[in-house]
Amino acid sequence: MVKNTPIASGPASRRNTRTTVIRYGMREIFVGGGHPVVVQSMTNTDTIDVIGTAIQIKDLARTGSELVRITVNNSEAAAAVPAIREQLDKMGIDVPLVGDFHYNGHTLLNDYPDCARALSKYRINPGNVGQGAKRDTQFAQMIEAACKYDKPVRIGVNWGSLDQSLLARIMDENAKRSEPWSASGVMYEALVTSAIDNAQRAETLGLPGNQIILSCKVSGVQDLIAVYRELARRCDYPLHLGLTEAGMGSKGIVASTAALSVLLQEGIGDTIRISLTPEPGGDRTKEVIVAQEILQTMGMRKFTPMVIACPGCGRTTSTVFQNLADGIQTYLRDQMPVWKKEYPGVEGMNVAVMGCIVNGPGESKHANIGISLPGTGESSAAPVFVDGEKIVTLRGDHIAEEFQAIVLDYVKTHYGNTTIAV
Ligand code: SF4
Repeated sequence: MVKNTPIASGPASRRNTRTTVIRYGMREIFVGGGHPVVVQSMTNTDTIDVIGTAIQIKDLARTGSELVRITVNNSEAAAAVPAIREQLDKMGIDVPLVGDFHYNGHTLLNDYPDCARALSKYRINPGNVGQGAKRDTQFAQMIEAACKYDKPVRIGVNWGSLDQSLLARIMDENAKRSEPWSASGVMYEALVTSAIDNAQRAETLGLPGNQIILSCKVSGVQDLIAVYRELARRCDYPLHLGLTEAGMGSKGIVASTAALSVLLQEGIGDTIRISLTPEPGGDRTKEVIVAQEILQTMGMRKFTPMVIACPGCGRTTSTVFQNLADGIQTYLRDQMPVWKKEYPGVEGMNVAVMGCIVNGPGESKHANIGISLPGTGESSAAPVFVDGEKIVTLRGDHIAEEFQAIVLDYVKTHYGNTTIAV
């Protein structure tokens, strides 16, 4: 006899890591230690452009980026960092800033103390710290700055800038094996070894272990999964997760989602960044929205009410329901900066927009609010369901506006400081 057991769902418990706290003013962002996975992003403005960079940081932060990284690539950029911080303060944006350093970070952090103070975290790429004898000295200078200003660091290894001397050593060791590893196995080992060895060196230099986050970014989905599984197995530092150079459009979104979902489901990853190449003139905030949607659709965090919409088919030949789904999604996201303060809990609301009678009423009943639009040949009536009950049938040319008003009324009466029972 087959005995049924309950079917389990949900991600594995998160790794038991240390917790790194990233601070600015009264703001504290906890990374690791079982805290919710943190969403971060990176600007693509020239850091010297203080106003342009501050505006993009504001947009990223308002969309929901909890940390924002900026490149600090030369003296002018380092000099601009305190001015950017000041602009953000004037705009009431307290998102912590992360400085991205390559090649000359040791010099910039030493020569521009106001920059070192204004940043809340430093990213150090051990493959781009220097060559030969200078490498150890320059790495030490960056860690000394982190200790002096009490800032956490991310030791961020990237396969495009892997420490070549380390790679050569691991290749030599591999050549002596009776059964040498594959080229990808050697590369994985070099990435993981670089991250952990440099973290341990930073601790030896005096940086507390709970001030260190690690990342090992690669651009292949299977490579990323293999590397992070091994990294997670070997250390208890919080991990920054992201597929580097993910690409443009749907390819970048799909590749990032595929890789991160597997790892997050296994409890691996404490902060994520989605490295999308924007379309020309595209909106940088897209990478924040994708990161949020990965976490929310996986049931790990809630950021914005979700719209459940059917794909449409031959039963609905007009674009009415597509426009309604798109309009309500945009409306919900636009309201969130205000709603999340006034109506806490609204981020967990579900709204269904369905194209016809086949699945429309059923799906709408499962949502907090749902509308089932008329398919081709159906009578021009759109029943609206609230918490599983049909409350009204909309007709005519103003269905979108009337449905939006119903959604707003639901938000006002069901979330935040309301006396109405939920
Ligand atoms: S709900 Fe109706 S319109 Fe939407 S996909 Fe299903 S059958 Fe097609």
